[in-house]
Amino acid sequence: MCRMTHDNTGPVISKFLSLQCSKLDNPRQLIFALDHDVQNQSATNLTKYKKIEAFAKEHGVDFYPAGRGIGHQIVVEEGYAWPGKMVVASDSHSNHYGGVGCLGTAIVRTDAAGIWATGKFWWQIPRVVQVSLDGRLSPGVTGKDVIVALAGLFNKDEVLNAAIEFTGPGIEHISIDERLTIANMTTEWGAVAGVFPVDEKLEEWYRGIFKKTAMRYLSKDGESHPRLNEARLQETVSAKPTADPGAHYASRLSLDLSTLVPYVSGPNSVKVATALPTLMNPPIKINKAYLVSCTNSRASDIASAAAVLKGKKVADGVEFYIAAASSRVQEDAEAAGDWQTLIDAGAKTLPAGCGPCIGLGVGLLEKGEVGISATNRNYKGRMGHPEAIAYLASPAVVAASAAKGVICGPDSLDMNALPKYEKPIISIVEEKSTPVAAVDEASLEPLLPGFPEYFEGPLVFAPQDNLTTDGMYPGKYTYQDDITPERQAEVVMGKSSYLYIERRLTGRKLRPRIRGYRPRPQIYPLHNFIHLSIRLNPLFRLQFRNRFIP
Ligand code: SF4
Repeated sequence: MCRMTHDNTGPVISKFLSLQCSKLDNPRQLIFALDHDVQNQSATNLTKYKKIEAFAKEHGVDFYPAGRGIGHQIVVEEGYAWPGKMVVASDSHSNHYGGVGCLGTAIVRTDAAGIWATGKFWWQIPRVVQVSLDGRLSPGVTGKDVIVALAGLFNKDEVLNAAIEFTGPGIEHISIDERLTIANMTTEWGAVAGVFPVDEKLEEWYRGIFKKTAMRYLSKDGESHPRLNEARLQETVSAKPTADPGAHYASRLSLDLSTLVPYVSGPNSVKVATALPTLMNPPIKINKAYLVSCTNSRASDIASAAAVLKGKKVADGVEFYIAAASSRVQEDAEAAGDWQTLIDAGAKTLPAGCGPCIGLGVGLLEKGEVGISATNRNYKGRMGHPEAIAYLASPAVVAASAAKGVICGPDSLDMNALPKYEKPIISIVEEKSTPVAAVDEASLEPLLPGFPEYFEGPLVFAPQDNLTTDGMYPGKYTYQDDITPERQAEVVMGKSSYLYIERRLTGRKLRPRIRGYRPRPQIYPLHNFIHLSIRLNPLFRLQFRNRFIP
């Protein structure tokens, strides 16, 4: 099992040291990849990055500096995630690795510190949902459209907290890059993992990478390095992990790919998805367009945008930002001439890294602006101002929209040739759940001595279903390691946060006490609290609520 941390490595180091640990259980399995705030050249950020690098050097951890790329891209590109394995990372989009048949899932920073110290990780096996992709995509319809449509069409939490197993005859026609995009955005769909099968297409893809890179990393320390190599690939593809015959699924969903048209997600929610031809009427003007992120900024995505913009210019009044998923991706796109095509069209380049995807650095959405992005999240405030509007689409649609200044498809997309369905054909079959075996109390882990049996404290009401990570604690604050608890509290309870609603609505009324141990504020959330979040630390700052709730 490999474990990746990024800009949040600093807080994980602090956690690790606070556990009175000084030695990593297995440094070979860790990766530090600095990717989120890479445009930030402040002394504070550079010092933070230097400290992470020094820790990596001291402990023998593989380290990827700012500018090398987005952690998830590096984990796949450098062969840390490979079929049939499990990889965790302290980032919500660890589902990404499912694109190469690897079980990827997110952990929080505290989990990461625990893993560093003990090498162990407990994972509650989630319910498993089978998603069958049938038929074949029409020309101009992409993997991004598949996941945007799935999240919008199955938007009643059908896969919430489930692990998805993708199956079906349509998969063989979906490229590995597209599978990575789909797996990546299973996070937004609500799943904890989304895994594609190991097939010949995947094997071929790996063979291509082997040929190109000569598996450069093997020269480091050969077989002992926990990365993919020829022998490991051979072992995996011959074993081809598959579900047991007669395996039980919580439910089975299906999408007929041949009935799908390009889809656009939003505004400001992945639960809303609209067929592009419908969304184009009346035209929606945009101010900014983005081809950045681990979701859709690989060489094939850049090539797709370049094909649309070749010989064209970004529309007046529109800014189009591009950042490759990694420096190697950028090298490939430069070698193919695609990077220059986008620059010639007027695109503004950013360093390989997250940047605007998480609302950091230049080019963010300003108040009242509309943006279209090939990233994975369009939540309020995610890519800039909370009063901006964000849509998500494929790289080709993003590039076409940048050129015309309104949301649209590329000129090459023949709308008349697209499948004529009002809605793609989907189905859902709920399986009868098998009775859960009675828990053997004796087999449970005992509580640690002194761990309270009950908790008590005033209740803080969060009256918002599907409260997202960005709705509670925007990314721009997440990577300020020196932020004070008081300032965190201000953000969590601030005007643009949903918890502010509690402040206005409930005042002092909702303060029942429950039996317990120590009076600390308890959150009373509605459905799906902090949807998709691994940013839990700010919640601990509710202890300062009295400053904000009269
Ligand atoms: S989703 Fe965006 S912020 Fe998160 S890892 Fe990917 S590029 Fe970075």
